[in-house]
Amino acid sequence: MSKYSIWVLEYAELDQYARGALQYGAYEGSVRLPFCYVLIKSDEHISMVDVGYNHADYGGVLGKKFGISNWHSPRDVLEPFGLTPNQINTIFLTHAHFDHMGNLQDFPNAHFYIQQREISEWIRAMTLPEEFKALNGATDPGDILNAVRAACEGRLHYLDGDASDVIPGIDIHAAFDTHTYGSMWIHVRNDLSPESQDGWILAGDLVYVYENLGCEHPDQVETGPYVPVGLATGSQTRLIETSATMVRTTNGERRRVIPIHDRRLPDVFPSRKLQNGLTITEICRADGQDSMVR
Ligand SMILES: [Zn+2]
Repeated sequence: MSKYSIWVLEYAELDQYARGALQYGAYEGSVRLPFCYVLIKSDEHISMVDVGYNHADYGGVLGKKFGISNWHSPRDVLEPFGLTPNQINTIFLTHAHFDHMGNLQDFPNAHFYIQQREISEWIRAMTLPEEFKALNGATDPGDILNAVRAACEGRLHYLDGDASDVIPGIDIHAAFDTHTYGSMWIHVRNDLSPESQDGWILAGDLVYVYENLGCEHPDQVETGPYVPVGLATGSQTRLIETSATMVRTTNGERRRVIPIHDRRLPDVFPSRKLQNGLTITEICRADGQDSMVR
């Protein structure tokens, strides 16, 4: 049985992004960078991994600074599924960078799950003197305020490390001091078995591109060493260890680790490009769920 359907939903893009930001040591060239969040749907739960950002206020400033284009709101992005943001009830936040946590206000009924360390350490980073500003290059202080607002409403849930069955079959794994202070990845055990043979990993920014998993395509037979992502507040060793743990968790099946920023993801899985230029990628379907990309 398959409990959950998983789709990666593109909401914006960046035409040319330096390869070196995605894989450490790739000093030449640039690639297209899609910006996405993930919809995970069962009969009982409509969940997401991350929320993108709002192309207004300081989110808009950061979007323009990075050169992001073709931005669409969650309302537009969820529309092909017949869903509105109001219907999303559970949201896992992999980390607090603006393009992942920058739109909490658009999900008024959702309960948000994030590592306590991710919030507290970003607040600490904000208190540092001007010369440490580079640490906050991809965070929007307004997003932290929106997280506090959600906490006031009883909708922010702190995690301290790993957590099993946050909703049935979905586990959280902490990866502290990697891409960010309190990054985490999400493991969907689609057969609900503790030793799942049908698991999917939503990797957040712990894996930007397949090269971080030591390959160019996940079905490649010969793989190379893991390469850390090019942007981190934490340790390269921890990033490499995290890639290794993810691949081990899927029993070596790299295609079950989903890098949402990888431009090639829509070629690995069935996908559909919409008229607005955004792509939906279908990772897996729950029993009885029709394809959304045909
Ligand atoms: Zn990030």
